[in-house]
Amino acid sequence: MSGSGEHHGHTHRLELSDQSVREWDAVVVAAEPEVGIVLDRSAFYPGGGGQPPDEGVLLWDGVRTRIVGTRKGDDLYLIPAEGDPLPPAGTAVRGALNDERRTALMRTHSGLHVLTGVVFRDYGALVTGGNMEPMSARMDFDLAEVPADFKDRVAEACNAEIRADRRIDVMTLPRANAFAIPDIIRTATNLIPPEIEVVRIVDIVGLDTQADGGTHVASTAMIGRLEVVKMESKGRGFRRLRIRIV
Ligand SMILES: [Zn+2]
Repeated sequence: MSGSGEHHGHTHRLELSDQSVREWDAVVVAAEPEVGIVLDRSAFYPGGGGQPPDEGVLLWDGVRTRIVGTRKGDDLYLIPAEGDPLPPAGTAVRGALNDERRTALMRTHSGLHVLTGVVFRDYGALVTGGNMEPMSARMDFDLAEVPADFKDRVAEACNAEIRADRRIDVMTLPRANAFAIPDIIRTATNLIPPEIEVVRIVDIVGLDTQADGGTHVASTAMIGRLEVVKMESKGRGFRRLRIRIV
């Protein structure tokens, strides 16, 4: 990945500094049917850190090109829907995200950070894996002993943090400063390649601080309500929590 700061190849990634952008103007840098479309400015989250990519449209010259996915290479490629026309290089386009999907993913992603923050704080358990869809997710934890009512106690603690309406701050820090934050070391040291000099931090103030490239709501109340649907024991110390945001 050639990402550095808020650029990926030729593309300025608008969503990294402003997660509220849903529509914007851009110019096509390159477009090839088999490869995808590269914009000079884009708010399409390309996927990563468990959060699936955005979907949306490009509007140009009275034409609509649906964007159904992304591919990360030297550049950030937007994948058009099969059969949709491609805007040639140099075309001015209006980009627009599928707001319902993006907003749902932001609420879900922030909800997962509340969950991991609560489970680490209350049980000392670390995340070992996970998966995210709009409004539902699963998260795997390494937790040997499961107390009685674990599922309900976790849900209750998460919703208390949501009701507390904690601020969710996003900032970028030089690598050394980021790794000076104790919690960052537990979550990120092994995940961030050494050549990355600036680390983006998502901080649920007072609860959870992580190195994270995803998109988040501005405060925990915007998550809504978090339900722990079920807990599965998949093996020794391997607990899987399935959650839903409502
Ligand atoms: Zn995250």
